[in-house]
Amino acid sequence: MSGFAELHPPFTPQAAVVEANRCLYCYDAPCTGACPTHIDVPRFIKQIAGANLNGAAQTILASNVLGLSCSRVCPVDVLCEGACVMHNLNKKPIEIGRLQRRAMDHFYESGGRLPQGAPSGKKVACIGAGPASLACAAELRRNGCAVTIFDKKPLAGGLNTYGVAQYKFTPEDSRKEVELLRAAGVEFRNGAEIGGNVNLNDRDFDAVFIGVGLGPTQPLGVPGENMPGVHNAIDFIAAYKTATPLPMGSRVVVIGGGNTAIDAAVAARRLGAADVTMIYRRTEADMSAFAFEYQHARHEGVQFRFQARPSAITGNGKVEAVECGADLRLPCDTVIVSIGQSKAVEAIAAANGIALEKGRVVAKPETGQTSNPKYFAGGDCVNGGREVVDAVAEGKRAAKGILAWLT
Ligand code: SF4
Repeated sequence: MSGFAELHPPFTPQAAVVEANRCLYCYDAPCTGACPTHIDVPRFIKQIAGANLNGAAQTILASNVLGLSCSRVCPVDVLCEGACVMHNLNKKPIEIGRLQRRAMDHFYESGGRLPQGAPSGKKVACIGAGPASLACAAELRRNGCAVTIFDKKPLAGGLNTYGVAQYKFTPEDSRKEVELLRAAGVEFRNGAEIGGNVNLNDRDFDAVFIGVGLGPTQPLGVPGENMPGVHNAIDFIAAYKTATPLPMGSRVVVIGGGNTAIDAAVAARRLGAADVTMIYRRTEADMSAFAFEYQHARHEGVQFRFQARPSAITGNGKVEAVECGADLRLPCDTVIVSIGQSKAVEAIAAANGIALEKGRVVAKPETGQTSNPKYFAGGDCVNGGREVVDAVAEGKRAAKGILAWLT
C-alpha cells in the first residue's frame, strides 16, 4: 500500500554481519533478561555473525514462535535494546530487532518449518487466534498435543493481522506466522464465535486456553459520537490494513493518548490527511504511548493538544468539529476515537465458572490457570492490553501450565 513505507527497513546481508560482529556476546546477557520471552539474544546474534541464519531463526523460534512479528513491532528501546550493555560504554546499542528480522525473513524465504513432538493423544482448544493463542498452540504442538484454534474473525492472527499499524507489520507477514502453525498441524476454525454461532463442548478437549484479547473500543459518552465521520481506532486500522480504508476527510481529530491512538494518527497522515490533531485529556507526561512513538508521530506531522477533554462532536448530519468545553473548538471532518477497549470475555467466563476481576480473567501468573482448572488464559484478556511479546510469553507459559496439569 502506498504511503506506508517501512519505519525500519531490513539490513542488507553484509550490514547484518557487521552489526552482529559488534555484539559482545555477554554472559548472563541483559538483553535476554529484558525480553519477556527470554530469547537467547547473544546466541542468535553469534549464529548470524557465523552466517548460520537457519540456526539463528531456530534459536529465536524456540523461545518466541512469533519471532517475525516481534522483530517488527516490539518496543525494543524499552526492552532488549534498552538493556544492551553498549549504553554503558556510550555506544549505540546493538540493533537486535533488525538482526532478528534478518534471521526470520531468511527463515520464511527458505520455507522453514517448526519441529514437532510425537503425538501425546491430548487435545486442547484455544479460543481466539491472536498472539497469545498462537504461542500457546505452538508450544503444545511441540509437545505433541492436537490443537484447534477458534476465532470469530475471517482471518487468524488477531491484532497482528487487524490491529498493528501497516508501517510496522503487514497482514501478509502475519499470515506467514499463521501458516507456519498450520503447517505444524494446528487446526484453525475461523468465523467461529464461541458462545455465538459455535458452542464449545469442553468434554471434547482435555484443556481450553482463552486468548480472546480485548473487546470493542469504549464509547466516549458525549453527544454526536454516533455521527457519520466518527470511527473507532481499531476499526479504522483494521479497515485500511485488510480491506478498504474507511472514508476520511483532510482534517482529522484523534481522541486518546495510547499507542493505538498514535498508530491511527500516523496512519491518517500517511493516508493523506493534511491536518491530524491528537487530543488527550491529561498532560504530555501522562500519555500511555511510548515516548518514541510520540516523537515518531510528531515527526510525521501529527499535532497534539493536551488537557483537552471532548464535550461534544458537532455537525449537521456529518462531523464538523470536536468541542472541548467552551474554550476549544477543533474544526474537522473525521474523528477517530481510541480511549481503551472494553473486555470481551464476560460470556465465556460466565458459561464456565471462570472468575473475573475488573473484566479481566483471573489467572495464576506461573501457569495461566483460571478458577476453573480445565481453563487457562493469557494475553490482553488477562493483562488488560500489553505488547505482542507479552501475549506470546503468557501464551507459552499457559501451554507449559497445561502440559504440567495434563500429566
Ligand atoms: Fe550483545 Fe548488547 Fe546483548 Fe551484550 S547486551 S549480548 S552486547 S546485544
